[in-house]
Amino acid sequence: MRIGGSRAQRRRTAGWLAAAGLILVALTVGPTIGDNAPGRASSAEAAAAAGTPTPTSTAVASTPTAPPEPTTTPTPIPTPRPDPLTWALLERALADRDWTEATFIYDEAHELIEERGRAAFPNLELAMAETYPDRLRRVDQLTTARDFDDAIAELDRLLRWYPGRPALLDRHGAIRHWANQLDGAVEWTDSVPHLFIHSLITDTDRVFDGDYSDAGYRLFMITQLEFERALEQLYANDYLLVDVHDLYRVTEAGIEATPLLLPAGKRPLVLSIDDVSYYDYMAPDGFPDRLEIDSELNVATVMTDVDGTERLTLDGDAMPILDRFVWDHPEFSLGGAKGIIALTGYEGVFGYDISIDQVDEPDFAQRRTAAEQVATRLRELGWDFASHSYTHDDALRSPNVAYGRFVYDSDRWNEDIKPVLGDVDLYISPFGFDLGETNQRLRYLVDQMGFNAFMPISHNTDMSWGDGYLRMYRTALDGYMLGQAPHLLAAFLDAETVIDEARFR
Ligand SMILES: [Zn+2]
Repeated sequence: MRIGGSRAQRRRTAGWLAAAGLILVALTVGPTIGDNAPGRASSAEAAAAAGTPTPTSTAVASTPTAPPEPTTTPTPIPTPRPDPLTWALLERALADRDWTEATFIYDEAHELIEERGRAAFPNLELAMAETYPDRLRRVDQLTTARDFDDAIAELDRLLRWYPGRPALLDRHGAIRHWANQLDGAVEWTDSVPHLFIHSLITDTDRVFDGDYSDAGYRLFMITQLEFERALEQLYANDYLLVDVHDLYRVTEAGIEATPLLLPAGKRPLVLSIDDVSYYDYMAPDGFPDRLEIDSELNVATVMTDVDGTERLTLDGDAMPILDRFVWDHPEFSLGGAKGIIALTGYEGVFGYDISIDQVDEPDFAQRRTAAEQVATRLRELGWDFASHSYTHDDALRSPNVAYGRFVYDSDRWNEDIKPVLGDVDLYISPFGFDLGETNQRLRYLVDQMGFNAFMPISHNTDMSWGDGYLRMYRTALDGYMLGQAPHLLAAFLDAETVIDEARFR
């Protein structure tokens, strides 16, 4: 993701300087403003020309993009003096309901404003509340772009607004950890393992009820408790999550392996979550109805109780649980990387049915927008996406599936689902089907559709480089493996202590 933020911030600085000068001149010189305009280099200069003291010069001179001291407390400015000019600028911005400008003035001259007290500025709290979501987003965007210095600077500004806000404190330690995480890094030259799961079973009573779907869930899914135990063990075993895009870069000639640098002693792991669509068949079994963005911009799970009441939770599926785990254990992630969400299309994504047969529904556009917003937010939180085919059709299990059917499926996904998710260059095959190097279906994915990684299922099989793509095998972390093949998970965790007792009730 390209972040143009610091440039925008600088532009805004320039804008404010100009505005400050303008208003200052207007306040002190009045009608001669036009005459002063060409020489208006800075507010300090203008102030000096106007013969007023320049108490704001300290705040104005510091650019907002300069990396702050790596301390938890902002550098104090000695004894702020009453500053009617800054107060007047802030009052004007607030009166104009220009929240961006008002919060910018606050950020630049907060000591002077706090000197008089926030309560003296009607609407200042409202200005902060209104701009908070975009500013928090920006912290996350900068983090995901690994522009940690700017992320910390932005976060520190927000922490002055809301010193005790949990969402900000979560990020405080994590981003600082990531900023220095690669000091003394070593190159990882082995294969990178890849574990995958499905959506989590959260209501074991409703799932393990002996009905027709019980057996499938038991084999192919894990419970919330199993996921939480697995995370603790992976973390204790020195794994850390890496972004698969850290393994290669795309050049004009194709893809090229890049060295993977890790903190000494750590082992890389890629995690993926398949089929996060909340298919209709899962609805009676306590899975989320859909994903939504909550007031702190978490991607939360919408759960429907048996009586039909909807609740927004942060433990209804693996994504919010992992987001929480990584805030608490930033060492478990390389620079904030999370996992890959592999999505089909035939019932839409994230619980929003945006499949082709729904286009005439009156709320189709609304669903699509909601899905797009969730996707954007997940990316800002470090998640990535893969195609998991459009149809997840049984026929795709065969490497000899009719070519036309294969192409139709791929094109359908490319046209209907990819635009909602943004740039996607990973293909996670449904049923874990494998395709040989020269299979024309694989060539279609790589050469025609532009996928850079192909990810079938095979336990503990090394990754390799094919012609134009990364071939990375995945190991299932599911009920079957935990119960029947624990030795295949032994490099990652101890299945016996991960397995949920609810399976045996
Ligand atoms: Zn699947």
